[in-house]
Amino acid sequence: MRTVRALQRLRGVLVRPCPPPLFVRSWSVAQSQSFSSSSAEKPMPGNSMLRHLTSKIKATGPISVAEYMREVLTNPVMGYYVQNDMLGPDGDFITSPEISQIFGELLGIWCLSEWMGAGKPSRFQLVEFGPGRGSLANDILRVFSQLRGALGGAAVSVHLVEVSPKLSQVQAQFLTGDQSQVSASEDEPVYRQGTTTTGLPISWYRNLDDVPRGFSIYLAHEFFDALPIHKFQGTEKGWREVMVDIDPDEPGKLRLVIVPAPTLASTQLIQADEKRRHVEVCPEGGVIVQRLANRITEDGGAALIADYGHDGTKMDTFRGFKGHKLHDVLASPGSADLTADVDYSYLRRMAGATVACMGPVSQKDFLKNMGIDTRLQVLLRNCADPSTRAQLIQGYDMLTNPLKMGERFQFFTMLNHSRLTRPEPEQSKGGKKMAPVPKKGPAPLPVAGFSELGLS
Ligand code: SAH
Repeated sequence: MRTVRALQRLRGVLVRPCPPPLFVRSWSVAQSQSFSSSSAEKPMPGNSMLRHLTSKIKATGPISVAEYMREVLTNPVMGYYVQNDMLGPDGDFITSPEISQIFGELLGIWCLSEWMGAGKPSRFQLVEFGPGRGSLANDILRVFSQLRGALGGAAVSVHLVEVSPKLSQVQAQFLTGDQSQVSASEDEPVYRQGTTTTGLPISWYRNLDDVPRGFSIYLAHEFFDALPIHKFQGTEKGWREVMVDIDPDEPGKLRLVIVPAPTLASTQLIQADEKRRHVEVCPEGGVIVQRLANRITEDGGAALIADYGHDGTKMDTFRGFKGHKLHDVLASPGSADLTADVDYSYLRRMAGATVACMGPVSQKDFLKNMGIDTRLQVLLRNCADPSTRAQLIQGYDMLTNPLKMGERFQFFTMLNHSRLTRPEPEQSKGGKKMAPVPKKGPAPLPVAGFSELGLS
């Protein structure tokens, strides 16, 4: 099969060391640990954010959890993502692409495989949402460079949707080796441009709407979990929204309250047949998925969303992380990461019928289907250094072990319907089949990662 062949052609070069696996933002750990204490924590930037939030609440009343999350994470002046490089050993959490290069390599093969499955269009945009430090893109671009022949001269370009100026700088340094320029005006839709170290044009945007139209493979790894959620609670009087208010007993502290009357969100965002008593909904994620579905339908391509999540079953997953520990979501706002599990059933509903959706499948199954075992063996064969070998094995275990990231992280894809259908036989001018009746086109290639690869 083509993904296996691509794997075999990937040389076993070790290009980056894996950091020691640290804390991942996982829900079952959240349930078993208590929140770290908050009041004695370092005052900045939490305090300025806290002042900003309390004056907002004093002026207009309690704010939704979504507004709280949006302000805390992406406020243009003091937002957590805007100010920090939060990934890695010295940050607040670690992600799969940071743990092992194999993760990005297999996603690179997935991108190539979907481009081939779409009939190898001559222009190919790789679009990544929230690229963090750029490690995933870097590993994918290395695969593209090594398998240049397979890309057969397609015009490949890279497009990063990133809200954080700080992280975009880290990404640019890593991916272009400083070969990028910031746009003259802050209002430009493309705020940074350059050339990757592998020679491809690369651009940075704040919004998907600014990314040029055309055949694209969209990737979002640990991006949707950072988007603001609304929280709701079922009460005797019906659904009510949970909001953030000032604690009347301690005016410097925030607390969660259930508002007595319905809000626009509580009347619009809950499904009529909802069975859970606590529900989290991420309308911003829904809008992005709708826009992706529209682009994939009109321009061709696919989206791969990978995150910890559930299929419409979990209830209270909103949590904070700081220094690789759980952190009270309301304490020192702006100093810690906030996150909530992705509800894939909601994303599927928002995607609608214009695209084909597959998944979610567990990270373990996805990576195994992509050939992670073969890739690990190749790397180990080419590596004599005992500590690097140990790190490769540790990284593999972290990514695939069901007790670590193997089950909690899940993969979901949206595809153009044509990707899964056999081309119809040609019709004669009058709409009648020509004689002899031509056979239908070849069966579509299976979607890598979502079904097991044949090893023939
Ligand atoms: N994908 C990376 C980083 C995950 S952290 C990895 O797996 O390692 C979340 C990323 O999304 C960060 O790069 C953050 O700056 C970005 N981000 C968060 N909210 C965003 C938004 N609303 N628009 C664009 N980027 C956002």
